[in-house]
Amino acid sequence: MTQANHRPAGTAGRITVLGLGDMGSAITRVFLDHGYRTTGWNRTASKSAPLAAAGATVAATATEGVAASPLVVICLLDGTAVDEVMGSVEAAVAGKVLVNLTSGSPGQARANERWANEHGAEYLDGKIMGDPPYVGTPHVVLPFSGSRSAFATHEQTLQVLGSIAYHGTDAGMAAVEFMAQVAVAYELLIGFLHVLRLVQAEGGDVAEFAERIAGSAAAYPPLLTSMGKAVRTGDHPPDLGSLDVQAALMDDMIGHRESVGVEAVRMREVKELMERRIAGGHGAQGFSSLFELLAGRS
Ligand code: NDP
Repeated sequence: MTQANHRPAGTAGRITVLGLGDMGSAITRVFLDHGYRTTGWNRTASKSAPLAAAGATVAATATEGVAASPLVVICLLDGTAVDEVMGSVEAAVAGKVLVNLTSGSPGQARANERWANEHGAEYLDGKIMGDPPYVGTPHVVLPFSGSRSAFATHEQTLQVLGSIAYHGTDAGMAAVEFMAQVAVAYELLIGFLHVLRLVQAEGGDVAEFAERIAGSAAAYPPLLTSMGKAVRTGDHPPDLGSLDVQAALMDDMIGHRESVGVEAVRMREVKELMERRIAGGHGAQGFSSLFELLAGRS
């Protein structure tokens, strides 16, 4: 497929993948499809068989896998699995580039980088936003952070996995990006579900309402972008209107929800924040100015 056999001989086109679960297998297949000489290792050896049939070399141990390639991609279940496998390979990682695509926290990524550097390896942390069948397409987004030289050297290779972006030398930043992206989805979607409750409680058709919202969602990208700029500069022009005008709606929003037995906790939070900003003399500012009150809340 695509660029098969365009990789140079020697070690430059060699990649090892540690962890051949659903995601590691998908990654291995994409590398094979692009002509990389790919070695795979998995704790449970039977999972390697389909990849061996597809052209991968199977390593008997993680150490053998690490030794096989200059670039070692790690895709295990979690941080504990990474610690166990890295602990078992130890000295073999010297001189290698480790690209860890296992989900985990910014703190784990920074600790992994320290460990790798202490063992003579370069470390790049990556996170995968997408499902295994879509690996190798632009629908899968992969933020990376950590060693700049490792990213520069292997950027072309990593590009075959999906839409990639480099988030700087702090190894934790790919995980920050991942956590923040996931958090935005959950913050929006739980609010959306509460609103569907409201629509249903009033006898509306939730599916039809969802379709209308899907249509009006096009208004959000410019709003998100301008709010990001407002937060960065600390200058908060009216966005959804001024806070003075927006706040006048809040009692009705809360009262409506309560009248049909729908959760109103977030609306009460919004009202409380708006009132504090207005009391502080910021009533002419926009919704983005609530950001100024969010430090230290939990
Ligand atoms: P799987 O459960 O399919 O595979 C997990 C892999 O981790 C297997 O290779 C398993 O080996 C290995 N493993 C677990 N514990 C250990 C251990 N202690 N020592 C050695 N190997 C171990 O998960 P996925 O492949 O789907 O996920 C891998 C990573 O990708 C995760 O961090 C996940 O969050 C992330 N991801 C997955 C997505 C998905 O949709 N699948 C989407 C986005 C990210 P064994 O076969 O022996 O059990």
